[in-house]
Amino acid sequence: MSLRRTIIAGNWKMNMDHIEGASLAADIAAGLKGKKPACEIVLFPPFTTLPAVMGVIAGSVIAAGAQDLWYEENGAFTGEISAGMIYNLGCRYVLVGHSERRHVIGEKPDILSKKLRAALSGGLIPVYCVGETLDERESGSASEVVTGQIREVLSGLSGEEMGRTVIAYEPVWAIGTGRTATPDDAGSMHGIIRGMISDMFGAGAAGETPILYGGSVKPGNAAQLLEMEDIDGALVGGASLDASSFLGIVFPA
Ligand code: PEP
Repeated sequence: MSLRRTIIAGNWKMNMDHIEGASLAADIAAGLKGKKPACEIVLFPPFTTLPAVMGVIAGSVIAAGAQDLWYEENGAFTGEISAGMIYNLGCRYVLVGHSERRHVIGEKPDILSKKLRAALSGGLIPVYCVGETLDERESGSASEVVTGQIREVLSGLSGEEMGRTVIAYEPVWAIGTGRTATPDDAGSMHGIIRGMISDMFGAGAAGETPILYGGSVKPGNAAQLLEMEDIDGALVGGASLDASSFLGIVFPA
């Protein structure tokens, strides 16, 4: 599977233990029952919550993913989780390079590059997150930063691997701040990202790559963002922790 499609994903970050997470997933699944969402729906719970969520979403239209992985298959890597462990749980997706991993944990492009490749060889769909900081936006270097993040990690992928990769543009200044990029600003960065994929992998690959927007998406702003030609969905943090606001993004009024 590749192909451009709309994806609405919830990144729960370090929220929701296995009991709270099962209950949130059950509320979301109940809200989707009997409906045909026009998008793929993916939840990214914490590792320890994943098995409980997998049990709840079995047989529903909801897919699950992990928030991170390590790039080796197994071994002496205390505290880490491999692509195989995530895949064997029944997950299809994994986040790579979320801004909190880059800016809070300090992950560098060489690690992200290895993680992305490990995800792909382990049969997972990586959602590769990119985005500029406020300083970088204000100094006028946002597009250079974002295209650099694309180039340094995605260079060297085969066309088939690129075809299984999803990108999320998440300006760091918009994550968890309540400040959202305007649809025009977000749409224009998505166009730049798609142009970069086209230069690297060809127009066909660029046309098929889902590019999600993330950064304070909520029911009140999702529809306008998703109307933009190059925005194929949303990676939602805070608003994904409440079933009705997450469902309000899946089914905009
Ligand atoms: C995120 O965690 O990826 C995110 C976009 O968070 P929020 O929606 O809270 O800004």
